[in-house]
Amino acid sequence: MIPYKGMKKVDDNLHKYELRLLTYKSELYYDMNKCIGCLFCIQVCPKEAISRTEEKGIEFNVVDMEKCSMCGICDFICPSNAFQLFIEGKRQNLLRENNSLPELKVTEIEGKKGKLRKFVEGRLEIDLTNWTEDCKPCVDACPTDCLTLNENNELVVNEEKCIYCGTCERECEKLGKEGVIKVIRKRLLYKGTLDEFSAPWNEIIKKLVSFEEMAKELKSKATLEASTRVKTIYKHLLP
Ligand code: SF4
Ligand code: SF4
Ligand code: SF4
Repeated sequence: MIPYKGMKKVDDNLHKYELRLLTYKSELYYDMNKCIGCLFCIQVCPKEAISRTEEKGIEFNVVDMEKCSMCGICDFICPSNAFQLFIEGKRQNLLRENNSLPELKVTEIEGKKGKLRKFVEGRLEIDLTNWTEDCKPCVDACPTDCLTLNENNELVVNEEKCIYCGTCERECEKLGKEGVIKVIRKRLLYKGTLDEFSAPWNEIIKKLVSFEEMAKELKSKATLEASTRVKTIYKHLLP
């Protein structure tokens, strides 16, 4: 039936969200097997269409098709490619294509569930005062093995593998041990410059990093725009 919007299970782990109009078809796939539960997509979805739920002890994401606009921001930001948007059967992201979103500068990290995209610059602050040797939910939940226990049961951190997803901090908070691990995101890495001020990109920076980082980005773009304008004026004035 057309128009149609809804979800079909391709199999137990792969969910297909679909929007079909007379002349347009988009499909948003969500693969539970790939999802690391970082919540990036939930944090940045402009329609607040994604939520996390649990069935038989397994956590996964659900998209509310009454809210979803098929913008593809979840696909853009997902470090594990668990969300993938197809338009007319082709993997596509219109916001990327019209340069409203930049090309992320990605380092590939080997994760527990496969390859992950690292594009966040940040740091981990670890204070072991409240940590006990038997406590390791952060180690179990870390999707990249960036946190491990050595033979003496000491917490070992390999920050090169950290994608700054925040899962460890959330696990720690669940135990009421706030402050053992703090995940600080400093900025999102991308290539080149965006042509114009981009509302979707600014929102992503605000939600995943901070308002201050977004303001910094806006300021640097304003400076860049002003200097381009001055250069253009001088080009016209000078012989
Ligand atoms: S496609 Fe856009 S609106 Fe839909 S769930 Fe993803 S981010 Fe949200
Ligand atoms: S961004 Fe990707 S990996 Fe993270 S919760 Fe969303 S779907 Fe899962
Ligand atoms: S933020 Fe925490 S859970 Fe995520 S990769 Fe880094 S150490 Fe692992």
